[in-house]
Amino acid sequence: MASLPWSKALAATLAERQLSGRYRRLRTRSGEQGVSVIIDGKEMLSFCSNDYLGLAAHPTITKAFINAAETEGVGSGAAHLLSGHSYYHQQLEEALADFMGQQSVLLFSSGYQANLGVIDGLMSRGDVVIQDKLNHASLLDGGRLSAAKSWRYHHADMGSLQRRLRQTEDSGCRLVVTDGVFSMDGDLAPLQPLIQLTQKHQAALMVDDAHAIGVLGKHGRGSVEHWQVKAEHMPIVMGTLGKAFGTAGAFVAADKDVIETLIQQSRTFVYTTAQPAAVAAASLASLVLVRTENWRREKLQTLIEQFRKGAAELGLATMNSLTPIQPIMIGDDKKAIVIGQELESRGFLLGVIRTPTVPLGSARLRVTLSTNHTEQNIKQLLEALEDVICTSQ
Ligand SMILES: *Cc1c(COP(=O)(O)O)cnc(C)c1O
Repeated sequence: MASLPWSKALAATLAERQLSGRYRRLRTRSGEQGVSVIIDGKEMLSFCSNDYLGLAAHPTITKAFINAAETEGVGSGAAHLLSGHSYYHQQLEEALADFMGQQSVLLFSSGYQANLGVIDGLMSRGDVVIQDKLNHASLLDGGRLSAAKSWRYHHADMGSLQRRLRQTEDSGCRLVVTDGVFSMDGDLAPLQPLIQLTQKHQAALMVDDAHAIGVLGKHGRGSVEHWQVKAEHMPIVMGTLGKAFGTAGAFVAADKDVIETLIQQSRTFVYTTAQPAAVAAASLASLVLVRTENWRREKLQTLIEQFRKGAAELGLATMNSLTPIQPIMIGDDKKAIVIGQELESRGFLLGVIRTPTVPLGSARLRVTLSTNHTEQNIKQLLEALEDVICTSQ
């Protein structure tokens, strides 16, 4: 291996990545996910999980997982279409369909797979996928996997989308795809205008609600609840279970025919082992808490407001986000890394997001808030940001 010219090329690319400050490194957590985490042996105050409702280590959910593992074992042992589809998977699909107010739901082992599976499973040669420019990587990859043509429109720009819809009028099926909450900016897709425009042009609409399910809407039904979408206008919704739900996996909610089609031809559904049944049992327990414990969303909203108010007072460059994703724009990649390291040495863990995840020159700190944070935690973070960002400039 080491003697192949190829391995020299790899080493050179890695060295280049390191120089440009784009090198990614793994860190190891011990103990549960939460507000206070132990990373590489050091206790940190974390603002970088997607455990928005603080359910990742909730005792009721953990108990449901253990109980199911005791009766079902661990491995599901096969794909859903063979013998891997358990009673818990079936129950969870029914409960999620009821929760979302849609005809059917299909589980996937991850959100990444669900996104690939929907786009590849529904779209064929001659069809067109039209995506918001800032969509999640897994949606863009879905477009790459599918035989359909891929187009993009400017972020949340309905004029730009309308031009794309006019340009593709002679194509086969058209699917417009958007994040419900954009993962690196925290802003919302304008769902009502998207629904109107896609209906006018007879295109289908898909919403990736990874960051909205459980968080937006009074009962946590995500974008469709937040924007009060009527039953007859429901888009295809992809929701993940590894974020606000605190478990793992993902689901797609849609009309029966869409779901049946995915069961037939979605490669990331057909050719993969079903998630362990105990994970589905845990998600079922989580769904009860997500649906009923509105106080989790209310408290999260209070923390978001506290953070935004404090950040504005410090003159930090926050973005137009009302969600628990609160980026602070820094700009330069290396500067963002230095700030991230300085915060880390003070015991604060934040996402440092840089190119290629976001466009060059828009590196940012990505603060994510959780119901389990306290007012005091937010105050501590703001003080650290003041010290590290404001006084160093
Ligand atoms: C996290 C995320 C996904 C992927 O979901 P996983 O279950 O983590 O694979 C898809 N889309 C968006 C917008 C996400 O943030």
